[in-house]
Amino acid sequence: MNFEYTDKVKSLQEKLNAFFETYILPVEEEVAAFTFNPENRWKQWPGMEGLKEKAKAAGLWNLFLPNSYGELSPGLSNLEYAPLAEIMGRVLWSSEVFNCSAPDTGNMEVLAKYGSPEQQEEWLKPLLNGAIRSAFLMTEPQVASSDATNIETRIVSDGDDYIISGRKWWSSGGMNPHCKVAIVMGKTDPTAHRHQQQSMVLVPMNTPGLKVIRPLSVFGFYDSPEGHAEIELDHVRVPKSNLILGEGRGFEIAQGRLGPGRIHHCMRLIGMAQRSLELMSQRASERIAFGKAFKEYSSIRQEIAQSQCEVEQARLLTLSAADKMDKEGNKKAKELIAMIKIIAPKMALKVIDRAIQIHGGKGVGPDTPLAHFFVAARILRLADGPDEVHLHQLGKSVINNYSK
Ligand SMILES: Cc1cc2nc3c(=O)[nH]c(=O)nc-3n(C[C@H](O)[C@H](O)[C@H](O)COP(=O)(O)OP(=O)(O)OC[C@H]3O[C@@H](n4cnc5c(N)ncnc54)[C@H](O)[C@@H]3O)c2cc1C
Repeated sequence: MNFEYTDKVKSLQEKLNAFFETYILPVEEEVAAFTFNPENRWKQWPGMEGLKEKAKAAGLWNLFLPNSYGELSPGLSNLEYAPLAEIMGRVLWSSEVFNCSAPDTGNMEVLAKYGSPEQQEEWLKPLLNGAIRSAFLMTEPQVASSDATNIETRIVSDGDDYIISGRKWWSSGGMNPHCKVAIVMGKTDPTAHRHQQQSMVLVPMNTPGLKVIRPLSVFGFYDSPEGHAEIELDHVRVPKSNLILGEGRGFEIAQGRLGPGRIHHCMRLIGMAQRSLELMSQRASERIAFGKAFKEYSSIRQEIAQSQCEVEQARLLTLSAADKMDKEGNKKAKELIAMIKIIAPKMALKVIDRAIQIHGGKGVGPDTPLAHFFVAARILRLADGPDEVHLHQLGKSVINNYSK
């Protein structure tokens, strides 16, 4: 294992850091003021499309995608993408500027890997161009959705169409006015083997019967303009050509989709934690209490040192998982992906919490990104599989490995 960044990665890091210095950091406060203003809810910050054009022109576009799409994607490996996603994690809304934000990234990977040529033309192309956005509808309010076999939404065959009925929630991106299509998971055959009952279907957001019920807030944050929607599907009719891969293949697609998605979240969490560490170090250097600079207090030095250790540990584990995905495929890397999915959100929460504490009241207010980081990291102990589910699966694999 050699995690020394290659010249290609170093040059992309330099380019991305320069982009942040020139275009992202100078507008960070403006974007925060815009998005947290309730009057602007579900509106896009007006400068976003301009920044996207600049990122595209700079070749900083679709960096997450392992397949090359000519000028639209450089086709980076996971190991190459990891330090770039880390930079994007430093500013929560920035991934969209580079067309690298969830859930679009996972949806694009699904369409690139499993979509028919027609589906790719209709949906993948505009997604790759950043012209539209998308949502992924798996979780349902009435069942424990961490076990995807529980999903109850029905996808019923009717001549050349499917009729879809069910209720979804926590559909990230579902409130965004640019969200034009959803990948919906439901059951085509509830009598089949438990992992072959599910299918995935493309549903345009304007299909009759698809109704956004409400936006869900997370600790009071609406994550506008993407939001997290509760959505009703009431006899939603779509042509059978909207089915992805084939009936009964939904579980297989979900597994393929979640591996890269999980590690992308971890990469961004390292970025959030790294920035929190930098902010707390700066604060410790500036502030004085009881006649001494914060940085002179042993307890504060220990908090900062501990944070540095934990960020670096998680970074190396993320790179290790990314490396294994590149060399041996997502399936073989599943234990490492589970390990980092368990480690990274908790690590980030600890580091962000220490940074908040050292900032005092400022840490929980609107003048630093720390409060929003804390919420974003907390979500990731649940989303893409709660900690316990990954621990359960990992524990099973470890026991099997050592008891053979
Ligand atoms: C902000 C946010 C964004 C999200 N975005 C999306 C999205 O875009 N699309 C989408 O489909 N979903 C999304 N989700 C949903 C998320 O993936 C689910 O919340 C998650 O999978 C858990 O499912 P559940 O909420 O039904 O919890 P449940 O399945 O009811 O689980 C609740 C708790 O039970 C415990 N538990 C479950 N299984 C085990 C076990 N095996 N061992 C021990 N304990 C266990 C865990 O503590 C778990 O947290 C999002 C969630 C949030 C909060």
